[in-house]
Amino acid sequence: MTDVPEPEPDATEPRVAVVGGGAVGVTAAYDLARQGAEVVVYEKDGIGGGSTGRAAGVLYDAFAAPEDARVGSRAIERFREFSGEGDFEFRETPYVWFARERDDERTAAIREQVPRMAEQGRDVSFADPADLRERFPAVDWSDVGVAAVAENAGRTDPGSYADLLAGKASEEGATVRTGVEVRIDADDLRVEAVGDEIESETFDAIVVAAGAHTKRLLAIAGIPVSLKPYRVQAVTVGFDGERRADVPMCYDATGGYYLRPHPEGLLAGDGTEEVESDPDDWAREADREFCDVTRERLAHRVGEFGAVREAWAGLCVATPDRDPLLGELRDGLFVAAGWQGHGFMRAPALGEAVAEAVLGETPLPEFDPTRFDGDETFAIVEGMAIE
Ligand SMILES: Cc1cc2nc3c(=O)[nH]c(=O)nc-3n(C[C@H](O)[C@H](O)[C@H](O)COP(=O)(O)OP(=O)(O)OC[C@H]3O[C@@H](n4cnc5c(N)ncnc54)[C@H](O)[C@@H]3O)c2cc1C
Repeated sequence: MTDVPEPEPDATEPRVAVVGGGAVGVTAAYDLARQGAEVVVYEKDGIGGGSTGRAAGVLYDAFAAPEDARVGSRAIERFREFSGEGDFEFRETPYVWFARERDDERTAAIREQVPRMAEQGRDVSFADPADLRERFPAVDWSDVGVAAVAENAGRTDPGSYADLLAGKASEEGATVRTGVEVRIDADDLRVEAVGDEIESETFDAIVVAAGAHTKRLLAIAGIPVSLKPYRVQAVTVGFDGERRADVPMCYDATGGYYLRPHPEGLLAGDGTEEVESDPDDWAREADREFCDVTRERLAHRVGEFGAVREAWAGLCVATPDRDPLLGELRDGLFVAAGWQGHGFMRAPALGEAVAEAVLGETPLPEFDPTRFDGDETFAIVEGMAIE
């Protein structure tokens, strides 16, 4: 009888560490693992325990720049694909954004952007207030100057997406370690668990998708990056179930706030603080002033609504040009961060893109993280702001 040799482990399979179990990290882990990489995800809290679990779940592909439109549309395509798996559900809901009468600057910006979005193949169109009244009668559109509707849009519970993708990554063979905070050594591509006992492991590649902690984690490794975490807020209020069906997702560009239907009623947010936050020391609760202003806004826009159910804050991350840092920063060290408040809606495509980058492609050269030195001076601009 001849001996059948044991199959050799495939020497070409890269070993990849993903730091961060948010929407982007778990998507990258899934896409890497299903393509044969040996993946370990390190998450210091629970899956979705960072900004992902605090996000509003507003999803759309209404972007004018070609790379943004591509990423947005791929993300929505994947959200639809995954919908119905586990607890994750993509709920089709149009997205309406508008400037109020006499807001000439934002009116001009919306008029200029919509045709460019359409040129990119996005299903967007102008809508006049009378049409909006007919289609979405629960909302007061009387002060609207110019409005547009994106049809390729929806809403979800962001935590359910992160849980689903973490599960899918595990099914593909990834190891998902929660409750493990790590530091990295960029020269040796080593990941060290921070705790009583130091354990460390080396990899062929490290993906840092650590959200608001990305800048700090890389700074500890001696690598400056141009990222600034900033605080935003959201609130849910009760709202009549029947009228809810007549509310789209909305962004009032003049008022600088958004709202969407939510299982509890309505969810509304903004409250962007244009100052850098310390990712380890920030107020988790929403401010009273934010809640008061949001109640006034909702009263104006939808009339009667119920009590505040939940009010919270979370962190987003800004970059100097409002575009992400996504790709290889140093040999074998990849970064995926800086979403300007649009990280969740693009996560299925951003995670996929960073996985492709690790596997040797250059999917989004526009977001090359080496375009900055890391010492740039820049102001934080709210991600949804239309200028
Ligand atoms: C109130 C609010 C509303 C929002 N609404 C929307 C929205 O409607 N649509 C949208 O697209 N975006 C929205 N966002 C933005 C969105 O939440 C983020 O862009 C997105 O979740 C970023 O995902 P991420 O995976 O990059 O980061 P995160 O979800 O923050 O994940 C990073 C993870 O890394 C972990 N981590 C950090 N450091 C370490 C370490 N040293 N070791 C191990 N783990 C570490 C963290 O615990 C965290 O879980 C909103 C944000 C907030 C706060």
